[in-house]
Amino acid sequence: MSLIVQKYGGSSVADPESIKRVAKRIVETRKAGNEVVVVVSAMGDTTDELMDLANQVVPLPSGRELDMLLTAGERISMALLAMAIKGHGLDARSYTGSQAGMITDAQHGSARIVDVTPGRVREALDEGAIAIVAGFQGFNRGTGDITTLGRGGSDTTAVALAAALNADVCEIYTDVDGIFTSDPRQVPSAQKIDRITSEEMLELAAAGAKVLYIRAVEYARRHGVTLHVRSSFNNNEGTLVVNPVDGEISVEEPLIAGIAADLSQAKITVAGVPDIPGKAAQIFTIVAKAGANIDMIVQNVSEAATGRTDISFTLPKTDGAGTLAALNDHQSDVGFQTLQYDDQIGKLSLVGAGMRTNAGVSAKLFTSLFEAGINIEMISTSEIRISVVTRADTIHDAVRVVHTAFGLDGDAVAVVHGGTGR
Ligand code: ASP
Ligand code: MG
Repeated sequence: MSLIVQKYGGSSVADPESIKRVAKRIVETRKAGNEVVVVVSAMGDTTDELMDLANQVVPLPSGRELDMLLTAGERISMALLAMAIKGHGLDARSYTGSQAGMITDAQHGSARIVDVTPGRVREALDEGAIAIVAGFQGFNRGTGDITTLGRGGSDTTAVALAAALNADVCEIYTDVDGIFTSDPRQVPSAQKIDRITSEEMLELAAAGAKVLYIRAVEYARRHGVTLHVRSSFNNNEGTLVVNPVDGEISVEEPLIAGIAADLSQAKITVAGVPDIPGKAAQIFTIVAKAGANIDMIVQNVSEAATGRTDISFTLPKTDGAGTLAALNDHQSDVGFQTLQYDDQIGKLSLVGAGMRTNAGVSAKLFTSLFEAGINIEMISTSEIRISVVTRADTIHDAVRVVHTAFGLDGDAVAVVHGGTGR
């Protein structure tokens, strides 16, 4: 008998019909002789709608109350799903995050899991029942309050439960057939990947791929959980996210795993910085104190005549205003001349473990962008990733061109079954 954790995202349980369809699938899995734990997200765009509701009442809702409100979304879907399964004559029991033993720190809105004590879930399984657990939520022992894990947190709930219960696999059900070489909503020729390493998946998630949340991938990597990302709309095999032991990567591993686009970043240029030791340290200390999570950094060669240089870096748009204000406050101590803010940038990232052992990947990337007339503004690399910044309005064209250049285009048009992409 296998223990399978299945996670269903909001688009898979968006309405009563979908809930019934998912229930049938869970029933089939149970009847095939498996123990089944289900983690469920809120129906459709419920979480966004609850958030909008809160913002209509007050501009800055209290973290504790917002978590109380948002966790209601998953309570609705878990109870409905349990009812639907019971309708098939099987035993199913729904549990809140707290009942399922998801113990977190006290950080409302972005709590971290500190312990998982799924005693009641284990008990339900031992009694032959299917356990349904509300995703995205937990409980802090110190405050006694309900917390949420941050947007998309149900993936993390599922992985954490899979690790704690020593599950055989954690299946993440979504509205696409698996992980694609690029976002099939933007790149119709994107192909499904059969197998990807958690290392590559982490880079893709960090680079803006939305199919899996980075914290869930990190957790799975750390605890050795195998993920199977697949569609809830068919029975096709999806994508396995595996944790190969170091050095075990097979030679057939494709050069490039995928390409991600990120439109959530902005660029700040600190212009006319005195080119003397200590200035970068000063600037990035200010930026760090402002809480900005920076990504790329570029420093230009200084102009001999002025002895000044420009430093540009990228950061999430949401950190933009605070970081600009902090830098402005320190203009005279740092001695820079002006600040520029640009939120019309897009970042393309090419990811593949094969880059370690293959030359010429950057040359091919830059050549394909050049041939398409797309200007590169910044470049950064890791061992298995190359990222470039372009104008925001060219990013999707850039991804399609690079996708073709690296031979990733498939013959069939990728199918997207549902979801609003919200
Ligand atoms: N319902 C939450 C959200 O939309 C959690 C999740 O879907 O994973 O962010
Ligand atoms: Mg959701």
